[in-house]
Amino acid sequence: MTMHATAGARAGDGPSPGGPTIFERSRPGRRAWSLPDAGLAAPGIEELIPAEHRRAEPPALPEVSELELVRHYTRLSQENWAIDVGAYPLGSCSMKYNPKVAEDVAALPGFAGLHPLADDDLVQGALEVLGVLGEALCELTGMARLTFQPAAGAQGELTGLLIMRAYHLARGDVRKRVIVPDSAHGTNPASVTLAGWKAQEVPSDTRGLVDLSALEELLDDDVAGLMLTNPNTLGLFERDIKRIAAAVHEAGGLLYYDGANFNSIVGKVRPGDMGFDVVHMNLHKTFATPHGGGGPGSGPLAVTEELERYLPAPVLAWSEPAGRWRWDNDRPHSIGRIHSWHGNFGIDVRAYVYLRSLGPEGLKRVAERAVLNANYLKTLIEGAFPTAYPGTCMHEFVSTAKGLKPHGVRAMDVAKRLIDHGFHPPTVYFPLVVEEALMVEPTETESRETLDELAAAFNAVAAEAATDPAALHRAPTSTPVRRPDEAKAARHLKLRWTPDDSSNT
Ligand SMILES: *Cc1c(COP(=O)(O)O)cnc(C)c1O
Repeated sequence: MTMHATAGARAGDGPSPGGPTIFERSRPGRRAWSLPDAGLAAPGIEELIPAEHRRAEPPALPEVSELELVRHYTRLSQENWAIDVGAYPLGSCSMKYNPKVAEDVAALPGFAGLHPLADDDLVQGALEVLGVLGEALCELTGMARLTFQPAAGAQGELTGLLIMRAYHLARGDVRKRVIVPDSAHGTNPASVTLAGWKAQEVPSDTRGLVDLSALEELLDDDVAGLMLTNPNTLGLFERDIKRIAAAVHEAGGLLYYDGANFNSIVGKVRPGDMGFDVVHMNLHKTFATPHGGGGPGSGPLAVTEELERYLPAPVLAWSEPAGRWRWDNDRPHSIGRIHSWHGNFGIDVRAYVYLRSLGPEGLKRVAERAVLNANYLKTLIEGAFPTAYPGTCMHEFVSTAKGLKPHGVRAMDVAKRLIDHGFHPPTVYFPLVVEEALMVEPTETESRETLDELAAAFNAVAAEAATDPAALHRAPTSTPVRRPDEAKAARHLKLRWTPDDSSNT
């Protein structure tokens, strides 16, 4: 085999980066399959596709053997990190284990092969999954009804805000602002802007919680509502939530619950009982469905009875006399569709299996262990990485790496060095209110032994910062790619491969 000289080629000749890419391995005429000649004349492409729809040149697809193809994908999979490989304490993302039983059920042909246009009568089983899951999620959040259309949390946010807008407009009330805490996830102000409102920040106080008096000063009859996640992104429970809710409602606003941190309270406390009016859930976080390169999301959006009429149409309904589920399209007040079909159904099936396999008691243990694991890990590493705010945390905590600054070491260096210890890094530099933030969420599915190993890795990295800071700056040394430009891929999108790229690694 002729090796193409590529910069940084390494032993094992993996696919990019380092070894030859699948395009460089391509040889004209090489095939991954072959069929015996059936002795029949096959129609030419000219007969099958009209000229105006045919390419002038064949596509530049790689031509490789089946073995090369299998190795390509297997090696790519090995260059990725996944929850099935090791711990993934990525704060705010709830990267917990995704039980395989849910994968098996979602892959059943009766689910995986469904057509979204199939007649309601032919898919009663699938509708039952959505119906029962919807009722369970409403029960868990304390809401009246929901939609499965949003494909992720951020789309749930936009849907919820459009519902809030429809509610205010129906009352002839044109409001201009939505308040978000300074610790909020970036999707919150982004969704507010997309919904046509102005996002206004309310500061956190010395406890890391919403500053109640600052909030009261911001509230007036121009405020459409407040978006809040509870516990907040600092991993702290907003203890004043009842007073916050009363103040927002008093001003005629609505309370939006960002359910990304639901994992810490699921089965224990309900957003509806705290006073929230609109709630999204990230099934791909709390309800253990794969995400982060592992699959799509699902961000069902649940509302109170008062807001139900504005939900995206169609809404799933149980019709009593017929004893069957049906899609209700007769929704004159609906904000309209926000997804082409009924959302990411396969993700909903996984969440259904997760819920049914745990049951109410199992769900409570999810929240309890998520909180216990986070506090255990926090205690083991807070000598080197103190938390920004004191006290018990919920399912995650935010530490600061600012103590390592005198050694010229930053949070990013700590994150990169943890990779060499065999762990996915925590979230870094978020929330913005914490200097050199390391946001750690171990989740309930990691064992005590893994938490001990993770803590040992954190502490070893802190010790190394004092003795050999250069090692942290070089990290990671165990990965095929070391430190890519964090922003370049997003700012300079390049989605097309051209033959000239083969010299570029
Ligand atoms: C993940 C997250 C979101 C966005 O959810 P997606 O499902 O990624 O769109 C919003 N808020 C918080 C606090 C989050 O952690």
